[in-house]
Amino acid sequence: MYYYSTRSKAQGLSFAQAALTGLAPDGGLFVPEIIPPYRASVRTSLGTMDFHDIAFETIKPYVYGEIPDTVLADLIHEAYPFSAPLVQVEAQLVLELFHGPTAAFKDFGARFMARAFAYLRRGEEQSLHILVATSGDTGGAVAAGFHGVEGMRVTVLYPKGRVSPLQEQQIAGLGGNIQALAVEGTFDDCQRLVKIAFSDQTLQKQQALSSANSINIARLIPQSIYYAAAAGKAFAGKSDTPQGASPWDALKAAPPGTVSLKPGEPITFCVPSGNFGNLTAGLYAMKMGAPIRGFIAATNSNKTVPDYLASGLYQPRPSQATISNAMDVGAPSNFERMSAQWSWEALRQLLQGVYVSDEATRRIIEEVHHSQGYFLDPHTAVAWQGLNQIRRAASLSGPVGILATAHPAKFAEIVEPLVGPVPVPESLKHVMEGKTLARIIPADISALLEVLC
Ligand SMILES: *Cc1c(COP(=O)(O)O)cnc(C)c1O
Repeated sequence: MYYYSTRSKAQGLSFAQAALTGLAPDGGLFVPEIIPPYRASVRTSLGTMDFHDIAFETIKPYVYGEIPDTVLADLIHEAYPFSAPLVQVEAQLVLELFHGPTAAFKDFGARFMARAFAYLRRGEEQSLHILVATSGDTGGAVAAGFHGVEGMRVTVLYPKGRVSPLQEQQIAGLGGNIQALAVEGTFDDCQRLVKIAFSDQTLQKQQALSSANSINIARLIPQSIYYAAAAGKAFAGKSDTPQGASPWDALKAAPPGTVSLKPGEPITFCVPSGNFGNLTAGLYAMKMGAPIRGFIAATNSNKTVPDYLASGLYQPRPSQATISNAMDVGAPSNFERMSAQWSWEALRQLLQGVYVSDEATRRIIEEVHHSQGYFLDPHTAVAWQGLNQIRRAASLSGPVGILATAHPAKFAEIVEPLVGPVPVPESLKHVMEGKTLARIIPADISALLEVLC
């Protein structure tokens, strides 16, 4: 498989080159030459296949000839000791993506990427330096994914004071090969600094650099897995029973799982979106042949993409702070990837855009807890409320699955004042005990280069 920059088809790179470079030299994002369809035998058995087998079949064509099958299978087993249950919360399907170690969906991309990098770089002497800008969850997932991995060094930039205390601790509490920089600015500043650093010739010569943002193709591809698995299940008329970390209120009634799903119906996914890596991975899964009807792109007041879908005009803007801070992105970087592969007209066929205010987000957290005893984190709440808003305007046919992108305990400072104590999953219990080891820098490229060089 060759990978090209979204800005030029002049040079095709291997998966290893595209993944390890991160961003294309011309500033574009890498995209695969084709989105490979599932074999028919795989496509028709997604509903019964094991999560690891779906992961293997999904990733294999993208790394064919570069990661041998046995290595890939091992890598997937190591990366995913957890999966993505599709649970019923009364009449609503929820795809719970927070059963990994940092309790957010970014574990799916980051854990695969860390292990793929380690394999692709086997035998290299110089360590690989990974630069990541995060609006919250990426940093923690990447830091956890790479922590202690030999030959890897990670620098995470996050907007100071704009991530939750727990997120900050997940980024800055590890130390060792993980360096945390608290930038006095917004997520867009962090992202801009990383972009400039990547184009800095001196730094490029001195170090082996890579990114780990959702702009990295190695993080994007594995995010297609859970879409395929969930779509397959719903199409087979199945869902999962809630697992250990499912955030039910023990004081409320036992979790219901009531609706019987009609087999043979493709699902619509409602995706809480910021940088649009998750949604792009969903588009890939659909194109590969997973039984997906379409998507709802739900944002907070950073509604650049919903506005684009409505008007055809793409107008990036500065990001605004909201309570769903991992989606505070005014200039979503994966938009370039989406629009390189799908026209506005095509996207309008596949996606509906909706945005949700903080006030409505808070209200739906209360409502869902009150009526169903299920805790939503603010990001998942944006999707839940966005779906309600869409449904008010038009009926949707077939099942709809909401992507639950983080465990509510990660955002306890927002959720608990609304609905009381949230059960903390095992994965998060010990995080807050350590020290925070961040260095504060201004949103200025010379300050960043000084730290990096
Ligand atoms: C990163 C993140 C999102 C947004 O995902 P994108 O791929 O950037 O659109 C949504 N919810 C949570 C909890 C996140 O961490």
